[in-house]
Amino acid sequence: MILLTTTANVIDYYWYPFVVDLETFIRLRYGVENFALLLESRKDILEHAVERIKDALEHGEVRTEPQVVELAVCGYHAARLLIASLGDRWLASRYALAEAERSYKRLQNEEPRTIEALAKILGVNLTYLAEPYREPIAIVNNVVIYRQYEYRIHFLDYVKVAQRLLGDPTWRPTNLPVKQGYIYLTKKQITRILKEAIATHIERSIIGFRIELAALPQTVKEYVETVKGLLSKYRKPKVVKTGGKKYSIKLPEGVVLVEAFPPCMKDIYDALLRGENLSHHQRFAIATFMLNIGATIDQVVDLFRNVPDFNEKITRYQVEHLAGLRGSQKKYLTYGCEKMRTLGLCRGDCGVKNPIVAYYKNASKLIRRSKEKEASS
Ligand code: SF4
Repeated sequence: MILLTTTANVIDYYWYPFVVDLETFIRLRYGVENFALLLESRKDILEHAVERIKDALEHGEVRTEPQVVELAVCGYHAARLLIASLGDRWLASRYALAEAERSYKRLQNEEPRTIEALAKILGVNLTYLAEPYREPIAIVNNVVIYRQYEYRIHFLDYVKVAQRLLGDPTWRPTNLPVKQGYIYLTKKQITRILKEAIATHIERSIIGFRIELAALPQTVKEYVETVKGLLSKYRKPKVVKTGGKKYSIKLPEGVVLVEAFPPCMKDIYDALLRGENLSHHQRFAIATFMLNIGATIDQVVDLFRNVPDFNEKITRYQVEHLAGLRGSQKKYLTYGCEKMRTLGLCRGDCGVKNPIVAYYKNASKLIRRSKEKEASS
């Protein structure tokens, strides 16, 4: 297996192919400059790329294990190229999360210096502490029990990288040891943070991959079509546009007027349709909003079908919990306008205190107008 020597330690390309500079790699390994042309004669790489994408779609995790490191590196980059050629944001996100999951599992067994070196490449400024920071957490039989934190990261870096996790109280800085501007983390926590950084890094690298589809060799184009086929097989959005209206939802039971959504919820709803990876707060806001305006559990679950990390079982459990069908049996209200403003999610000035009120206000106007129209015709 090939190892890449970095200033700090070694990083195994096999598990972390996203750290590889592709141009340098193919020049040194194959003596070529153009990756697309290399792929034309290497169907094995394209086949492996498709395997990686299929894993991402099917399992949400890249599981395939190529025999040699070259295949892992080139297969990863070929997958990036195929996805970028399709220009599908949802697939880019789903694939990035699936690759990050693969690396994350490996990362948990890595040496501290490898973790530090990888973080550096990802632009995360963390430090391994030879003397861990110890925090007392309990006293058992007069013996103090400590929790050990082996890493520290600057507060500002933490907030930037852990953005999507902050909705979970356990990741909030107030619930972690903070000293002189640094947050202290265990190895498990730091690898989870790096998983976020890896997913962001890969997603950006796909979105930023400039591809001219027409200029690709015919063989590569055929594989782009294969991925397109996989995408339509695995991603079957149940949210549809119908009836000439801009937005509408297939409603077996409850009726939801998307045209009456206040701008904040419409914004999140649109992002869901585009398959974007939403923050915890956005997910909570739209799910509780929908449940409170009469959407069924199935409708809400279906709405989330497009998110890159969709897992039906987990989503259903969470939506049922928000609807008060599980746990504390408490039905959650959506955030009020003030909280939405604080979270940066407000998109207008609707003169109300809660998006639900804005919805009913808009809905009653819509219904009144349509009745007036009916009466005059
Ligand atoms: S004022 Fe309230 S309902 Fe209107 S966009 Fe802002 S948060 Fe949403």
